[in-house]
Amino acid sequence: MNITNVISSIDFWGRHYPKRIAYDIGANTYTFSELLNYSDSLAAYLRISKYSGPILIYGEQEFEMIVSFLGAAKASLAYIPVSNKTPNNQIKRMLVLAKPSVIIAIQELPIDIKDTPIITKEKLTTIFTINYKYNFISEKSLDRTFYIIFTSGTTGSPKGVQISHANLLHFINWQFKSLKLDTGLRYLSQAPFSFDLSVMSIYLALTSGGTIVSLKSNLNQNFKALFEALSKLSLDIWISTPSFIELSLKSIDFNSGCLKNIKSFIFCGEELQNKTALSLIKIFPETKIYNTYGPTEATVATTCIEISEKLLKKYPRLPIGYADNDAIAIENSSDLGEIIITGANVSKGYLNNPIKTAESFFKSNHMQSYRTGDIGRIIDGLLFYEYRRDFQLKLHGYRVELEEIEYHLNNISIIEKAIVLPLYKDFSVKMLVSYIVLKEPNIDSNDAIKEIRINLLKTIYEYMIPSKFIFIPELPLTESGKIDRRKFFNYLNPIN
Ligand code: AMP
Repeated sequence: MNITNVISSIDFWGRHYPKRIAYDIGANTYTFSELLNYSDSLAAYLRISKYSGPILIYGEQEFEMIVSFLGAAKASLAYIPVSNKTPNNQIKRMLVLAKPSVIIAIQELPIDIKDTPIITKEKLTTIFTINYKYNFISEKSLDRTFYIIFTSGTTGSPKGVQISHANLLHFINWQFKSLKLDTGLRYLSQAPFSFDLSVMSIYLALTSGGTIVSLKSNLNQNFKALFEALSKLSLDIWISTPSFIELSLKSIDFNSGCLKNIKSFIFCGEELQNKTALSLIKIFPETKIYNTYGPTEATVATTCIEISEKLLKKYPRLPIGYADNDAIAIENSSDLGEIIITGANVSKGYLNNPIKTAESFFKSNHMQSYRTGDIGRIIDGLLFYEYRRDFQLKLHGYRVELEEIEYHLNNISIIEKAIVLPLYKDFSVKMLVSYIVLKEPNIDSNDAIKEIRINLLKTIYEYMIPSKFIFIPELPLTESGKIDRRKFFNYLNPIN
């Protein structure tokens, strides 16, 4: 399969196979025809209203989210998916940075917004039923931003990664080619729409006449219900973070009966452990397992490799893809160095943030390149991830900048100075620990923790809040007067 336009490829299924199921969540299913008609109507409405900036789309896993993404794209407007788990101050920062021309609030917004028009869910339903007339106009340039996904930033403000129609197209075609996917398959969508892993499920499914099968987020907390639900979903393709499959593998209820039709497991977003893939192969010997790698800045994933038993035996830490690709280079062609990604899937940069864009993006042979911050090496023609060169990490699949957490901790009035460090086990972060010097050392530590958590919840996502707060009289410094992070790090992770 090779597609030339994401929008017309999705519409094709609505026109020719209207009754096919595009979206399946819980007891509800929605057809390609509904997707086509509602998104056409929304696009026409957005055009009539003459909105010209990005659209912020707020909600969770509702079908209306998907319709709004497509409706925005049809109106040539970039969309910004924002989850209902986003802290209020983070939403405010996104609004300042992105200056959306309109907000589609599928769920009620948690803050008062006065100066931006809002389309509520009720209004959206009316727009769908009025059936505004929309004419598809194929855009001359596919350089237009298709979506903007916000990721953790080091300075306390999130960064908006701009992905163009051309970036997305390149990613979809590369995935179809590398994974040899059929049409009409059922794809698990586990990640929230505000994370780019969801882009993989949404666009692979919709452009190939398949179904996005969304797991209700409350099921993630309840294993028995989760596996009961899984066995009824008839999934063909599993897409998730390794963390999510690790959680599933811990349960005795997770067995081949839960996924009778499964053809491929596709993982992305963090290190896939050898032992995880091995356990999976034992339960699903006929199913393909793919490890894919890439940052949001290069459209979801850039490299991919099928994990076989042979590979598992040979490499205790698994490769993340093939290096025989113009897209991948190790900086200065050295043995161990930063992984640089170049090509049509690399973003134009961060929204309204020229400084951060210039730090990470550059041109090489007229192609857009991105410095990943990942240190890797190439062995036997295979690409391996080793470690990060900065303080970005993955915690249970979520991308986290330790400096962002520290920035917000250091803004809390009772804190003199704080740092945050990861506790590792088998190359993956198990928890975050914060060492804190309080301004007033006699405060009761339980009261201090309570105060800190209340403050953090307003500014950062819950998953970023450290699991442990340790109060100390002072932070040790290096000879040059900087906080001695290594000392703490080695103390927390004695084997490193
Ligand atoms: P995100 O932008 O959230 O997708 O995070 C991108 C980062 O996740 C990369 O720069 C890597 O540090 C890490 N990552 C993604 N995929 C893998 C993988 N397969 N193995 C190891 N690390 C990965």
